[in-house]
Amino acid sequence: MHCPEKDALTGLLTRASFHEHARGITGAGLAVVWFNLDNFKMFNKRFGFERGDDILREIALILGGTFPADGASLLARFSDDNFVVLTDWATVEMNIDTVQEYLYSLHENVTLRLRAGIYFPSEGDDIRSSCDRAKLACDSIRKNHSVSSCMFHDAMSRELELQQYILDTLDTAISRGYISVLYQPIVRLSTGKICGTEALARWNDPEIGIISPAEFIPTLENYREIHKLDIYAARKVCRDYSARKSAGLPLVPVSVNLSRLDFELCDIIGEIESAAAVCDIPRRMINIEITESINDEDMTVLNLGIEKLRALGYEVWMDDFGSGYSSLNVLKDYSFDTIKFDMKFLHGFDINKSEKAKYIISSNLEMARLMGMEALAEGVETALQLEYLRSIGFDKAQGYYFGRPMKLDELFALETGIETA
Ligand code: C2E
Ligand code: MG
Ligand code: MG
Repeated sequence: MHCPEKDALTGLLTRASFHEHARGITGAGLAVVWFNLDNFKMFNKRFGFERGDDILREIALILGGTFPADGASLLARFSDDNFVVLTDWATVEMNIDTVQEYLYSLHENVTLRLRAGIYFPSEGDDIRSSCDRAKLACDSIRKNHSVSSCMFHDAMSRELELQQYILDTLDTAISRGYISVLYQPIVRLSTGKICGTEALARWNDPEIGIISPAEFIPTLENYREIHKLDIYAARKVCRDYSARKSAGLPLVPVSVNLSRLDFELCDIIGEIESAAAVCDIPRRMINIEITESINDEDMTVLNLGIEKLRALGYEVWMDDFGSGYSSLNVLKDYSFDTIKFDMKFLHGFDINKSEKAKYIISSNLEMARLMGMEALAEGVETALQLEYLRSIGFDKAQGYYFGRPMKLDELFALETGIETA
């Protein structure tokens, strides 16, 4: 007799055996539900992996007890804290409520949210894309804490199509030059001159027009393709810099954005080294920006990467400080040369009113100082913001006030002027 492959921790089906079983069960009258636990990584960190495992087993038991066990439902754990249920559409919402309420009642003093995304397959939908849609619905409420479940709708489908297009077209977009790099000025506040640039990728697609980094970066990260873009961007930056260098024109260091995943997906340091060597760009001309959305698992790989980059002579900057929930831990665990304060700090900032924002900004600046890092403020849009940042002693700033991302030569032609070494 064929024995289905079971997940060792929970006893539910694995992703592969779920797909195998579900293939035969298609058609109307069904619902696919994707469950994900909020902040599961933080839970593990706070309470330890054993309690994390206990929670996963508990969820599996609750799912098993709630969704009809008479063979009408299929239950699986796809990975980590991702559970999927194929069940009858008529009772699905009621059962999701039951699961969520039961789980919360067991853990009243811990904030646990088991998000659910629902998709009702139509005749002919295959199970994989049905699961993708349920997941998309589940992901769509990640940041909306007022709801715990959500049904898939067509706008999400367009998002899915765009994601697919991005993944299918990436190689062509790179080889045909649909992806370009623009540069945004970074200004030293003590001199008022441009002391650096940040390289930002742009995708101008002949078929669908401009695709924003907010769309293609997360997609490439989710599907572990981001290193292709980052290697391409690093090479392009070195070529652009090399052209100016050969013409004897002045330069200031450029910041290149890397994803923490690059360190796992390829030899990103080797790639940067060779891009710089081919174009004869000294390491001190290249800074590496890494965002703070760094999770526990890749800590060693990333830490080694950061240390190696710094030992080689690159500066490493922490990007978007303050935008995620783990900023302070990241600062504690990794070493950076500069910290870039996220533009949210300045959002709606009024120098005469925003007392709390001022306390937060100035105390974090003090902390950066104590740790021997330079501080850069992102998203500076007004003269008043600039005046305040200068008055409390920020080192550098960046934002539309000084200039939007632009072509390299345009940046060097700005009236602001360039800092000379
Ligand atoms: P980031 O690294 O934090 O870059 C700053 C973003 O803020 C850029 O958005 C920039 O255009 C925008 N910005 C700058 N000044 C202002 C301002 O005064 N006001 C406002 N509202 N926005 C401002 P962009 O170019 O859309 O890039 C978004 C994010 O995508 C970047 O955030 C970065 O994390 C990522 N990214 C861009 N290019 C690359 C790349 O080549 N590789 C990787 N891994 N990520 C990239
Ligand atoms: Mg950046
Ligand atoms: Mg940033």
